[in-house]
Formats: sequence, structure tokens, C-alpha cells
Amino acid sequence: MPNNEFDRELEDRFVRYARIDTEADEASPTTPSTSKQFDLLNLLVAELKETGAQDVALTDYGVVLATIPATVERKTPTVAFLAHVDTSPGFSGTGVKPIVHHNYDGSSIVLPDDSSMVLSPEEFPYLAQKIGDDIVTASGTTLLGADDKAGVAIVMAMANKLLSDRSIEHGPIRIAFTPDEEIGRGVHANLPADLKADVAYTLDGSELGEIVYETFSADKAVVHIQGVSIHPGQAKDQLVNALHLAAKIIDTLPHVTRTPETTDGRQGFIHLYQMSGNAAAADLQFILRDFERDGLQALGEVLTKVCDAVQATEPRAQITCTITSQYRNMRYWLENDMRPIELAREACRALGVEPFSTPTRGGTDGSRLTEMGLPTPNLFTGMQNFHGPLEWISIQDMARATELCINLAQLWSNE
Ligand SMILES: [Zn+2]
Repeated sequence: MPNNEFDRELEDRFVRYARIDTEADEASPTTPSTSKQFDLLNLLVAELKETGAQDVALTDYGVVLATIPATVERKTPTVAFLAHVDTSPGFSGTGVKPIVHHNYDGSSIVLPDDSSMVLSPEEFPYLAQKIGDDIVTASGTTLLGADDKAGVAIVMAMANKLLSDRSIEHGPIRIAFTPDEEIGRGVHANLPADLKADVAYTLDGSELGEIVYETFSADKAVVHIQGVSIHPGQAKDQLVNALHLAAKIIDTLPHVTRTPETTDGRQGFIHLYQMSGNAAAADLQFILRDFERDGLQALGEVLTKVCDAVQATEPRAQITCTITSQYRNMRYWLENDMRPIELAREACRALGVEPFSTPTRGGTDGSRLTEMGLPTPNLFTGMQNFHGPLEWISIQDMARATELCINLAQLWSNE
């Protein structure tokens, strides 16, 4: 594979950023959820200032903002590029040792710190397509954090290019690096107003060519069961055991359908992800996911009906089911104006890469931003097997993503 002008810069940036521990913590009430995310946020502030970006700021809600001034005088839309600095709490992000496998030869990659961790091209067909690329992996005991330090490196490389080569025509560009995307707290209420952009893109997607404008619609549900607590020695006809009622609710919910482990594609699910309590009181935490509003509502109704039915069997208990909205499928807003996706596809084809769009069984910061009025599709970075020890990425995919952003900046200046 010929050496792209961005390859070495991306390798340097990505490896440096990946070494910094930025694991998010859902249990923490602070913003960012972990103060170590400031290690990377502060570094990005310094690097953006050094490259000549303007309005560089770290907001009190932990987002780095910056401007790349326009090179054209005509009035054009302001385009924002975003990436998140945190990594998933689902696997350790402490002591990440990125390993660059230059000019990948197509063989299986054994990770040195745990030899049971093997990336084989047979098991991961996308890896088989990357022979000759420079592949970055972790060492076996941590995730890599390409999700989303690849996005951070891509946006920084784009910024460096646009600020150092003022012959590239583009309108005003805004940059944002957000914390806590992985725990669904990346988009602060003030972010759209502080970004001051007309359109935005997150660099948080996967395979080369992927342009995502459909995400799940998401609700959260908490079922609280209040039983009647009494000494078990004197409990006859009086104890109402909250744990037994919790078990009944779980057992009545659909098991062989409508769970994450039994659905894919466009199917939705009800996922029990946490339970806690004792005989006196218990809490069940669920996430509900579907691509359509109606489907999501139907899942909420299933859960509510099951709670009502179990309540009816034991009037002395108190069972409540509280459903709160998390985010909505960005397609609902983007389908009214597909220009952000059309231009992304055009920018992708200009690289010789055929774009494709698949609905994401998850959400992005863009889901919330789009709902708040800032259309924000998600673009590929190349990241694979994220949130686990077998995470890997091709530097050359990241270089294509950097070029995609630069093409997009140019295309929007003609709108
Ligand atoms: Zn991500």
C-alpha cells in the first residue's frame, strides 16, 4: 500500500492518545465521569493551540472546542467534526500498550501479554482485506481504545492539514472533543449552542466507507418492587418477598425473543442489565431499544403489562415501572434533509471508496445532537472489535477517513 501523507502522523497521534487512560465510569456523578479524561482533553487543547486553531477552549462540562477559520470569503455553512476521548468501561483501559504491525502480512496476530488472544484473518474477514496495511492492536490485557481515539487522531490530522495548507477551500470548521460518550453522557445541553455549527459529523464509525444516519431509539426503564419485610420467624401470611416478585417479572418477560442475544438487524429488544435488592425491596434496570418509535413504545407496554400482571397477584406489594427517554433514531430528522449524508457519500466516492449505510444497533453522540437540532451523521474510522481486547485498526483506514473529512470541508464550502 503506497504511503499516504497522513499515515505517519496518524500513527504517531493514535499511539500517543491510546496510551492515555480515559476510561469512563457510569457510577461517577462528576463531569467528566473520570478526571483522567482531562489528561487527554488538556493535551488536545495544547496541541490545537500549537497548530494555530482559534477559539480553543475547554468548557466547564469537559468538552474541547476549537475553530478552523474559513479560507473562502463567501457565506457557507459551518461544519463541525466531533470525536470522543473516553473509552468503554466494559474492558480495562489502564496501561494500554498499542502495537503497530507494519505492512501486515496476512498471518494470525498473537497478542503478547495474553497468548490466548489471537486475531486471525479467518475469524475476522475484514482483517484479511488489510494485507499490506499498518495494523494497530493492544497487547492482550486491555482494550485498544480506537473507539474513539482513532476519531480524535483523524480530526486532529484534518485540523493540522487545513491550518497548515490555507490553499484548501473551506468555510468555517468547528471541532469538538467530548467526554463520556460510552456512558451516554457526552452531549451537554449547551453543546449545540456552543458549537455554533449548521451540520456536524462524528468520527466514531467502523468499516471503510461506512456512513451512518440510523441509530436505535432508546428508553431506559426502572422497575421498583416494594415488598413487606418481616422477621422470617414470624412471617407466615405477612412477608411479601420483593425478590420473588422480581423473579416472576423476569420470568414472564419474553426470553426466547426480544432480548439482545436473540435479535439482530432491525429487531428491537428489552434488556435487563442490572438487578439489586433484598426481600424488602428490589430494583430491576432495563434498556429498551428499537429503530422505530412505535416499536419502542410497544416494548415499554410489554414491560408495563408484565409489571401490572405481577402486581395483580400481590396487592400488598407496590410495583412501579418508570420509563425515561434516552435518545431517538437520527433518521427521523435526517430524512427531512439528506444533504449531510449525500455530501458525505460524494466525499467518500471521491476517495474511490463506495459508501454504505447500515443501521447502528446503538447510539452515538450524534443521536442526541440530531434530536437537539444539529444534524450529525456518523463517519467511518476503521475501528474493529471495539470494547474488548481484540480491538484493532488500520492506519490506512484512518488516513482515508482524514481525507474524507477534508473533502467534506471543501464540498460544504460550495453549498
Ligand atoms: Zn465510540
